[in-house]
Amino acid sequence: MTKQRQLVLAIVNESEDHLTAEEIFIEAKNRISSIAFATIYNNLNVLVNEKYISRVKSPGNPDRFDKLTIPHEHVVCDYCGHIMDVHVPEIKKMLEQRLKLSLTSLSLDMHYVCDSCKQN
Ligand SMILES: [Zn+2]
Ligand SMILES: [Zn+2]
Repeated sequence: MTKQRQLVLAIVNESEDHLTAEEIFIEAKNRISSIAFATIYNNLNVLVNEKYISRVKSPGNPDRFDKLTIPHEHVVCDYCGHIMDVHVPEIKKMLEQRLKLSLTSLSLDMHYVCDSCKQN
């Protein structure tokens, strides 16, 4: 793995958030000032393809990158856009039993108000 790719992977793994390519770029520039945005973007694509990290798509917003590669769902704060990981593996089974169908995929669009936005 190249130095740049290791750096991109480290930034995603160290973060508690789901960062955009732009946020990863800003952090990477602090460590390797000559690094280019295209390098970040290409390395993110390779890391996603090789399943080191996963990509979170949200319509109308830039993709975010997630250190968790096991199946999980996201809940998005309506105010600040913060993404929380939730694990609800039983949902698919529950729906299949209820609908008497075998689902090939399931995507949930869940929103909430996070703790820090609740206080404001
Ligand atoms: Zn919030
Ligand atoms: Zn996640």
